[in-house]
Amino acid sequence: MQRPTGKAMKISNILETKKRSLSFEVFPPKTDSSFDSVREATERIASLSPSFMSVTYGAGGGTSRYTIEIAKNIQNAYSVPTLAHLTCVSSTKNTVRSRIEDMRAAGIENVMALRGDIPAGAENMPRDYKYAFELVRELRLSGGDFCIGGACYPEVHPESQSLEQDLMHLKEKVDAGLDFLTTQMFFDNGIYYRFFEKARSSGIIVPIVPGIMPITNIKQVERAITLSGSYMPKRFLSLVEKFGSDPDEMTKAGVAYAIEQIADLYDNGVANVHVYTMNKPQVAEAILKSIID
Ligand SMILES: Cc1cc2nc3c(=O)[nH]c(=O)nc-3n(C[C@H](O)[C@H](O)[C@H](O)COP(=O)(O)OP(=O)(O)OC[C@H]3O[C@@H](n4cnc5c(N)ncnc54)[C@H](O)[C@@H]3O)c2cc1C
Repeated sequence: MQRPTGKAMKISNILETKKRSLSFEVFPPKTDSSFDSVREATERIASLSPSFMSVTYGAGGGTSRYTIEIAKNIQNAYSVPTLAHLTCVSSTKNTVRSRIEDMRAAGIENVMALRGDIPAGAENMPRDYKYAFELVRELRLSGGDFCIGGACYPEVHPESQSLEQDLMHLKEKVDAGLDFLTTQMFFDNGIYYRFFEKARSSGIIVPIVPGIMPITNIKQVERAITLSGSYMPKRFLSLVEKFGSDPDEMTKAGVAYAIEQIADLYDNGVANVHVYTMNKPQVAEAILKSIID
């Protein structure tokens, strides 16, 4: 795995090198009491020396401050460049600005600028931001010299009427100052390849990093279908049917499927693949090992 040093900690630099690399996503603790176990899991994943790690942001939650803490720890203790996520839709301008300042002070150079989802029943939420492109602009104006990533949806964002409409808004978001995009999970690589071509012909020229989710339990499958409307190929569904009731076998089958997806992406010229590890070091390790072998 390549390892940038010194000032070359920006993810855009890593993606520019075009060498094969693998990056991992982790999530911060959802409660104060789980901080130690999450920190330990993220440290085990960081010790595998991925090309970078992203740390998600619990929109509006009281533990959202941990995103920066976990990202800073990974960067300082393991020299792994980190990408701290930030959402805006349920925050005031003041909160967002102070989070940006906290990131800058913590030495975070990469930020994933997201809209987030409006929590159910949160009618009295702040309405300072409507879309992620507004956060991208805010980050660009902050003077933080951040490398900024954004989300994209090969199977179309659930609120969009069509792929064309989604791509039009995606282009506006990129033009607001994005350096790269990371995709929502998908289980059929053809969906990514077709999306990539459409994005390029819509004038979106930044790197589009595919996001791969190794499925290790049946709940993840239900969540992927409900939240993202992910298409599940027959071969994948039959694996779930066969192994879904056996957690160990399901993990093995889900990791093997993700490894096949990643190998195919590399074979088709994709340089960096981002893996949603769900904070499972053994999953990250198995995938990394298969890539190196
Ligand atoms: C890689 C990745 C990482 C993520 N990480 C997190 C995380 O850490 N925390 C979290 O809470 N959520 C996270 N999410 C989920 C994300 O917050 C949701 O999918 C959310 O619904 C959309 O966020 P966005 O940044 O893509 O929004 P946007 O880019 O704002 O798009 C949202 C919708 O609005 C439409 N739209 C955009 N601009 C306009 C406009 N000007 N007019 C009309 N419509 C418009 C888009 O087409 C789309 O349908 C992540 C998603 C991905 C793919």
